[in-house]
Amino acid sequence: MPVTYAEKRNRVFHNSASAREYLNMKKTKIVIAGGGFAGLYAAKYLDKHLARRPDIEVTLIARENFILFTPMLHEVAAGDLAPGDIVNPLRRILRHVNVIEADVTDVDLNARKIRCVHGLERGELELDFDHLLLALGSETNFFDNAGIRDWAVTMKNLSDAALLRNRVVAFLEEASLETDAAARRQWLTFVIAGGGFAGAETAGAVNDFVRETAKFYPQLADEEIRVVVIHPGDYLLPELGEGLGRYAERKMRERKVEVIKGARVANYDGWVVTLNNGLSIPTATLVWTAGVKPSPVVAALSCPKERGRIVADEYLQVRGFSGLWTAGDCAAVPDGYETGIFFPPTAQHGMREAIVAAKNIERTILGQALQPFRYRTMGMLASIGHHTGVASFFGFKFSGFVAWWMWRSVYLAKLPRLVKKLRVMIAWTLDLLFGRDIEQMITLRDVEELTERWTRIRAERKQLNVA
Ligand SMILES: Cc1cc2nc3c(=O)[nH]c(=O)nc-3n(C[C@H](O)[C@H](O)[C@H](O)COP(=O)(O)OP(=O)(O)OC[C@H]3O[C@@H](n4cnc5c(N)ncnc54)[C@H](O)[C@@H]3O)c2cc1C
Repeated sequence: MPVTYAEKRNRVFHNSASAREYLNMKKTKIVIAGGGFAGLYAAKYLDKHLARRPDIEVTLIARENFILFTPMLHEVAAGDLAPGDIVNPLRRILRHVNVIEADVTDVDLNARKIRCVHGLERGELELDFDHLLLALGSETNFFDNAGIRDWAVTMKNLSDAALLRNRVVAFLEEASLETDAAARRQWLTFVIAGGGFAGAETAGAVNDFVRETAKFYPQLADEEIRVVVIHPGDYLLPELGEGLGRYAERKMRERKVEVIKGARVANYDGWVVTLNNGLSIPTATLVWTAGVKPSPVVAALSCPKERGRIVADEYLQVRGFSGLWTAGDCAAVPDGYETGIFFPPTAQHGMREAIVAAKNIERTILGQALQPFRYRTMGMLASIGHHTGVASFFGFKFSGFVAWWMWRSVYLAKLPRLVKKLRVMIAWTLDLLFGRDIEQMITLRDVEELTERWTRIRAERKQLNVA
């Protein structure tokens, strides 16, 4: 059998003194839990600065082997972009960091071990760490409401957005063949719970998508379509302030989006949304963007928390637990300027916190003084549909087409990797020239199952004589 170059190199390596020294060397183990904005940016820093060293091992544990660019998620739901346009494979970005696709199940801070399960057979894996950066983000909070949990669509990951887009098209098809007018309106009503960034952007995007796509269904009238946002506050997008929030509402109303303020979704049974003010809206689609909670792994940890988030100090370490660091949505990071104020959970903050956490891990290993996290929020942007946006930058407010253009430019620049930027630019250009894609990409089994359940509910309701 011919011996390959790699085998020869390995034999030489394993026999050399330096190799034996290398293999026996006690490595400093750095583990990053979570492959979102915070996890990736910490890993990128360590990939460049530490991971090549033979005495250091850096591992990233992530549920998916890609980073999802959430600011553009609603564009996938609206058919402006394809799912693959807004994700980047972690393994292409990280060359020296070990990537493990697994689910973290628990962290033993005393034994300094992190446990995970992986693969279809849920194989167990245990890793030791000297430094652990917790960057597990947050999870959707259904506030223990089983109806909402079972029936609502979430807007958190890539499949949520793809499923929503598919569902909109599936229900246009369904409605186009429905003879019962009330049922047709139910298929054509889309309720979005939450008027923050995710809710307002999703509502604007879905509204554009469903109204533009419905033009290809001659049986359907635009007046039959309802897109409704339910928001507990006085104005949308509270993060951007009252002026821009009210502007967003006005613009969305002009585009026929209904905005119900000062109300919360109390229940949903797959066919009717009930609000806490007694109002009910018959709908086959509730998009739930109204709450987040910490990951169960974070919730189980005994370290100090602020509304479920792990309290970090200004160096991103968790006091009282040496070698434990945190960043991103799962961390409450003091803003350093005002006492008792924490940075908001956004990608903009998460990635910057993570880079400082990674630098401080490096500084700890090198025996250098730690660097505090200091950051002034630059601004926030939201796209609310129909080439309209709202933005606040260094105290200046922008709205309309200019803000929408800023939104596209800023996030295009932030999207990792040139190839994805080019794909998104091409997709946007093609959308402008030829319109967005309106096909149902796949007949998701999930939708079929739901349809069966709806058919059952409708039959039951008909028997009881309720709408
Ligand atoms: C629809 C939407 C739109 C948004 N728009 C914007 C925007 O325009 N601008 C902005 O700044 N922010 C925006 N955000 C917020 C932004 O996405 C978050 O602040 C950011 O993702 C936080 O980064 P993170 O790394 O802390 O968490 P995440 O990005 O959520 O990453 C956490 C990672 O940990 C993984 N994970 C969780 N639990 C486990 C486990 N047990 N085992 C293994 N892996 C696990 C997750 O799969 C995920 O990959 C938006 C969010 C959403 C949902």
